[in-house]
Amino acid sequence: MNYLKLGLLAFIFSIPFTSFAQFVQKPLPYAFNALEPYIDATTMEIHYTKHHAGYVKNLNAALANIPNDGRDQKITDILKNIAKYDGAVRNNAGGHYNHEFFWSILSPKSNKPSDYLMSAINKQFGSLDSLKGLLNKAALGRFGSGWAWVIVNPQLKLEVISTPLQDNPLMGDAPKKGTPILGIDVWEHAYYLKYQNKRGDYLAAIWNVFNWDEISRLYEANVPKLTLDQKWSSLANYSASLDKIKELSAKDPKQMIFHTSKLTDAAKELTKSPIPADYASNAMTKNIGDLGNLSTNLDQLIRKKAKSKLINNAIAQINDLVKNILSTVNN
Ligand code: MN
Repeated sequence: MNYLKLGLLAFIFSIPFTSFAQFVQKPLPYAFNALEPYIDATTMEIHYTKHHAGYVKNLNAALANIPNDGRDQKITDILKNIAKYDGAVRNNAGGHYNHEFFWSILSPKSNKPSDYLMSAINKQFGSLDSLKGLLNKAALGRFGSGWAWVIVNPQLKLEVISTPLQDNPLMGDAPKKGTPILGIDVWEHAYYLKYQNKRGDYLAAIWNVFNWDEISRLYEANVPKLTLDQKWSSLANYSASLDKIKELSAKDPKQMIFHTSKLTDAAKELTKSPIPADYASNAMTKNIGDLGNLSTNLDQLIRKKAKSKLINNAIAQINDLVKNILSTVNN
């Protein structure tokens, strides 16, 4: 055993056995001035090095009174079981989690929501602007200090809520529970130096520095994308059958007749089964009807041994229509 290892062992045994895991602040992922002019450098510096650091220090102090095996080790578990802790743990565990989260969903690089998140926003709120209106209203309406959130609720829907003080929707006793994907700190310490009492101006500005890559990632992590088969199995089946035909039409036209009759069967199943409610519309009904007719037409062309140009045109027409349908379903 070399001296380095001995030194390490001596160090480990010098730590009292009653010690517990201390929470530490992650480094801020950008410079204090990175969010200028929307959030000023002084506010960021004080917010991170004094307010957030204070929550971490006070959380560790509050937990020091509790035996190590009598408390949760993970911050999210502390929040889930918050009812069993005192007010100091509540305020400071919430304060630590909320700020760590807040830094992660801000960014100097302006970007936009992913198509997947955008489609959920459009479906539920009509537009990003109306979500903005709802969130800013919740933030303005929060009396005193607190947070406004966009959460994924237990039904996997987006929801706009607000919480008092350092509470958050991960707390086991929260009236509205869910997983935050976006949050705005509306404590005065988050904006007073630059915006004074004008919380509305701060709320208008902060939309310029949201980290939509991270917000979109959080959304997808909590609402996993469904496969085509999970969304609409008869369409998935049809689409797979069409892929086979596209592959064969170039290489082995003799095999085509077997597969076009399979495609016709898949088309029958597709036109018979109801269109899933999420995609139902007059246009979709028409598209699916057309797909049925085009499939029958292709099958007849093959049986008649029509010219390959006609067959390829028919396949291309079907392919365009399927692409069009899939763009609606995948959005
Ligand atoms: Mn704060």
